[in-house]
Amino acid sequence: TGLSAQERAMVERRQRLLGPAYRLFYEHPVHLVRGEGAWLFDAEGNRYLDCYNNVASLGHAHPHVVEAIARQAGRINTHTRYLHETVLDYAEALLATFPASLGHVMFTCTGSEANDLALRIARAHTGGEGIVVTSLAYHGVTASLAELSPSLGEGVPLGRHVTAVAPPDAYRGGPGMPARFAADIAAAFADLRRHGIRPCALLVDTMFTSDGVFPDPAGFLAQAAEAARSAGALFIADEVQPGFGRTGTMWGFQRHGVEPDIVTMGKPMGNGHPVAGLAIRPELLERFGGSVRYFNTFGGNPVSAAAGLAVLQVLRDERLPENAAAVGAHLLAGLAALAERHPIIGDVRGAGLSIGAEMVTDRATREPATAETARIVNALRERRVLISASGPGANILKIRPPLCLSREQADLFIGTLDEVLRVA
Ligand code: PMP
Repeated sequence: TGLSAQERAMVERRQRLLGPAYRLFYEHPVHLVRGEGAWLFDAEGNRYLDCYNNVASLGHAHPHVVEAIARQAGRINTHTRYLHETVLDYAEALLATFPASLGHVMFTCTGSEANDLALRIARAHTGGEGIVVTSLAYHGVTASLAELSPSLGEGVPLGRHVTAVAPPDAYRGGPGMPARFAADIAAAFADLRRHGIRPCALLVDTMFTSDGVFPDPAGFLAQAAEAARSAGALFIADEVQPGFGRTGTMWGFQRHGVEPDIVTMGKPMGNGHPVAGLAIRPELLERFGGSVRYFNTFGGNPVSAAAGLAVLQVLRDERLPENAAAVGAHLLAGLAALAERHPIIGDVRGAGLSIGAEMVTDRATREPATAETARIVNALRERRVLISASGPGANILKIRPPLCLSREQADLFIGTLDEVLRVA
């Protein structure tokens, strides 16, 4: 499928060196060497529009972050067993973005480690183990998170202490969804209890990204959190995907008017530099902190803290959450207009620049257009627009551009998708 001799050699070399567990995007893999804003460039100098990368959320290679990393790396990089001011400045700036109830922040290097730490703390606090997640959730790569990440498939079994509930899908969820979501969570914790497993936490991505992007109606998460708390569990908001302005507000949970007990974060936190962590109500840390000595070699190091601090400055100075809200609304309106002409688009939904567009073969039956969606994603890639798909039928276009996306770039995305749908 159009691979050059050099690309073919590289694919072969990857398989030989990295083994069989790695996957590439697209039938025709992309070899990227440089990025700037929402643009990416391949080894031959071709330009791509990035509508998928939610790590370099400020824009690729943002100069302010690059400069902050380089400056700190050129001075010293240590860890949290020495006094250093930058991690404190960063903790202060980060906590200022949260409700006052979240008074402590702890640093890790990956979202997985943040979720793993959150679960350890939640277990210590509640004395329980029972976890409720959504049926296509992804929460991380460690053994403890793989067993509560049903999106990894049947080859990765769920833990006995884990129950997956249907996501709050207003399009397919049937009568009463997403209001029914809270009742399902209550029932799941009750069922765990009947099996002798005490409730520990409700852990959800506040935009349900891997389940298929379910933002509406804003507010349903507050009832879900209430259901968890009534059962004696904590509400952990996984903001690894929605956090740092993507939804048009700083945090995804804010749209729902709810205050989580713990918030985990990662991906865009360092705009590409591995920075992650959690924010938490201080009283929840008492039992864990009393018995556990927490040291993460790289978590909260001065270079990472400098990167994280620079990210917060750019988000504020360039008003990126506001841009995500405005350009996201424009993009969603463009998709809705496309849906009038292309019956394959069954539903469009999103908040800010976290958008899902669901492809169906028949609007009445809502049959997932799985094969067509794969063709659309690959056809967009051939036209140098990068996105991917998710959901149980792999039929939901997942659109997550950098937050600096311009209206013109949003229009380019819509125009290219229109072209692809006309020939798909
Ligand atoms: N939670 C969510 C919602 C994620 O999407 C991811 C990564 N895709 C993680 C946690 C894990 O983060 P990391 O890959 O940094 O460990």
